[in-house]
Amino acid sequence: MTQFWGDQAVFDEASVALQFSGKYAKSYSILLDSPRVGSFDWFSGLVLEEAERITVFVTGLECDTVYQTEYKLFSDTQGRELKETRINGGPRAIDCQQQRSGNVPIKRPIVQFSEGLQSVSTVTSTRNSAVFRIHGLGFKSYKLGLYSNLDGDKIWSSGLEPNLSSAEKVELSAGGLPCGMYFNTRVELWSEADGKGRLLSDIKRHNFSTDQCGKRNINNERQLEIGGMCGSLGERVLVGGKTLICRDTALGTRFQEIDFNETFANPSVKRASSETCLLKDTRDKTIPSNREPFANAFPRDSRWYPATGSVKWAIIPIDFPDAVGQGSASEQHPRIVEEMDAWFKYFSRDKLKIEWTFPKKWIRISQESWKFDKYRNPIPFHEAFVREQIFFAVDREVDLSGIEVVFFILPKSLYGTNVYFHGGWNQTDLPSGKKISPWYWGGDDSNDYGRGLSWSAYWTHEIMHGIGFQGHAPGGLGWPVGVMSAQDKPILTVNSWEALLNGWSDSSNYLCLDSKDLGDVSLKLQSLDVDYDGLTSVMIKISESKLLVIESRRPGPYSKYPDGFARITAYVLDTSKPYNRFIRDLEGFDWERNQFMYYLRVDQINSPDWIFDPSISSRGFAVPGQTFSFEGLKIEFLSAGKYDSIRITKRP
Ligand SMILES: [Zn+2]
Repeated sequence: MTQFWGDQAVFDEASVALQFSGKYAKSYSILLDSPRVGSFDWFSGLVLEEAERITVFVTGLECDTVYQTEYKLFSDTQGRELKETRINGGPRAIDCQQQRSGNVPIKRPIVQFSEGLQSVSTVTSTRNSAVFRIHGLGFKSYKLGLYSNLDGDKIWSSGLEPNLSSAEKVELSAGGLPCGMYFNTRVELWSEADGKGRLLSDIKRHNFSTDQCGKRNINNERQLEIGGMCGSLGERVLVGGKTLICRDTALGTRFQEIDFNETFANPSVKRASSETCLLKDTRDKTIPSNREPFANAFPRDSRWYPATGSVKWAIIPIDFPDAVGQGSASEQHPRIVEEMDAWFKYFSRDKLKIEWTFPKKWIRISQESWKFDKYRNPIPFHEAFVREQIFFAVDREVDLSGIEVVFFILPKSLYGTNVYFHGGWNQTDLPSGKKISPWYWGGDDSNDYGRGLSWSAYWTHEIMHGIGFQGHAPGGLGWPVGVMSAQDKPILTVNSWEALLNGWSDSSNYLCLDSKDLGDVSLKLQSLDVDYDGLTSVMIKISESKLLVIESRRPGPYSKYPDGFARITAYVLDTSKPYNRFIRDLEGFDWERNQFMYYLRVDQINSPDWIFDPSISSRGFAVPGQTFSFEGLKIEFLSAGKYDSIRITKRP
């Protein structure tokens, strides 16, 4: 059983699934604590429950509030022998419309649901089975379904089970489950027998995992031959004049042949013209919001700030009467310009040249800092207030002519607070008579960057949003695939499609195929992470609105994947889709597939079904021997030598 502490999923804006490891204690209590004065807390009281993993449902959260949750586990049923206390930062309640428009947030007591589901426990789980306990009010029939939490597949379902006496607690077991899988549990409760009457609850918010299958990746013996077992990923051996490297494959860790002297040869396959793959934005333009700029496809909207050519960007230290900057701002952010210059030069393939303005002194804003917190100062047109206060003050000290992007450095004392702002496109008429409308950003909303995560990666991600990189898809936030998915993970690449759309790549960097004219082809691909200037993607046009993009992922200068890591990914671009933000825990794979780009999953079930951490599907990253399928095409990862060999076949 893998432990997942503190997966606290907020849903329907006001309800939360409080999940925790029960660790087979005899009883527990939960305190949900609001940081806001005059707001409601919730205390469960002492609850008798002995289980592996427990999820408790409450409702009434106040929006835009980061709660704190304290779990206590007791070794007895009286709550005297404390076994463990665990405090989590969270849940973070979802933004609500009321608060966004500056209204006073709704305050109401936090309670458990008045009917239907109260809590669900995994009493026990093993490699292939799990036993569940459901606590609910007023239900006479119920059903339980188990889904892959990462890939969305429905794995198991109970029948419609009777509970004719309306017992408040029922138990049920599920067998024949795949091992090493991270599940989400869906519970449906009805007021009458046989699924009749009212549907009291339909909630999919309880995660658990089954044990992994055997000892994977730990081979004590080595067979020094191609396809032979090996121990540690990335290990190289020389056998009979050939170099073998240990890779993760569909058969476990196996030696694959690698020729380090191999030079890359462009594949001799029938290409479509490179324009064939430059798909057009096909969003339904009769919907007003779809006329807003959304960088999913061609033509690149001219309203985006430029991503190529010579640009003027600024980093400007500002401070406030109640939050004074200490020392010099360039010491607070050493090497920030060098790091961003190097990153943009590399990933734009030298197509973007930045001229920086970075004044040394702090520029004092006349208003106190709290007025720049939209929650503490919920005035109408807060963005305009922030913009004018700051840019007017800066205008007196710095020449802002022609500046297109501005990052404001704030004093460290404001990190992790809501003194955090951003904007773009709105014109400001400065006191000096200049007119500017830059993309700007300031502060740190995440509470993380003050603790040593990379500021240059954080700022780069936010700048990219303004210069035409929609981001957040494919993969969503948190996946270690590139700078637009994870600012805090050490994988800071740019995906092939967004690079192409914004003028950072050309036809030498991708191979365009048209599925209409496609026969079976085998070819080699360079890695996006290693040979960025090379042929780093295969793009297959599926239709006028759909493109399949295949990339190779390896450890590289901006990709801190583990040694020996060699995987391919395949993602789908759908230019009719206007979405690029989802929360996997809440919305699952169904909604992930609705984003303008999403990663396909391999056809094979893996154990474990996650890599790196439990939120990242291993099925998004194929190993040699695995396949992706999409719209009649099969993509097969044949082998991972110096370059990746893949075969594309069309099913009849
Ligand atoms: Zn973002």
